[in-house]
Amino acid sequence: MAVLHDLIHLFYPESCPGCTNSLVDGEQRICLDCLSRLPKTGYASIHDNKVARLFWGRVDLAKATAVYFFEKDSRLQGLIHALKYMGQGKLGLYLGRLMAQELDRSHWLDDIDILVPVPLHSKKKRHRGFNQAEMIARGIAGFKLPWEERALKRIRHSSSQTKKSRIQRWDNMNSIMAPGKSVKQIVGRHVLLVDDIVTTGATLEACAHVLLEQGAAKVSICTLACTFT
Ligand SMILES: [Zn+2]
Repeated sequence: MAVLHDLIHLFYPESCPGCTNSLVDGEQRICLDCLSRLPKTGYASIHDNKVARLFWGRVDLAKATAVYFFEKDSRLQGLIHALKYMGQGKLGLYLGRLMAQELDRSHWLDDIDILVPVPLHSKKKRHRGFNQAEMIARGIAGFKLPWEERALKRIRHSSSQTKKSRIQRWDNMNSIMAPGKSVKQIVGRHVLLVDDIVTTGATLEACAHVLLEQGAAKVSICTLACTFT
């Protein structure tokens, strides 16, 4: 699936990364068929949704949501693959704008003061050329909200997580995030943490702890997709 996407993109750069069909006039970045079929969670209007529950007892969040359900071999997987591994950073801005439209329906963004993307390790960011969470956050922010990518800093890779015990993993995650250069921007404000996908929530949890310790008034979480339904 992934290799096919890469090959098709190489020869037909104007194809939809969700389904690999060619884009027609009037379609931007994603075809209308994929746009209409992205599986929405509707979680923005459900306060105790599954994403919010994932963090219960772990970190005190004002609210949490994911906009779409992530399924293997789905159109959304194609989009996320294009964003992360095929250098389509602008697709992140586009997806962020789509998310903002969905969130605005239930006025979910109205009480947010500033957006903070989950940081990538600087080496990984150099390799990829951009941080996909930052592109999504910028898309959500639009002209309405400020965003600050240097509020947090990832201090090392969180690789080979699966081979560690639960306690080792917890320790590992809690020492991967640190305050960044611009952490003062979040003091006394309602911060929205943004990432592409939530699975275990460990990285987002580590970020939220740092933001609260550093004086954020409230922290909320929003991701493009969640891996559970
Ligand atoms: Zn498509």
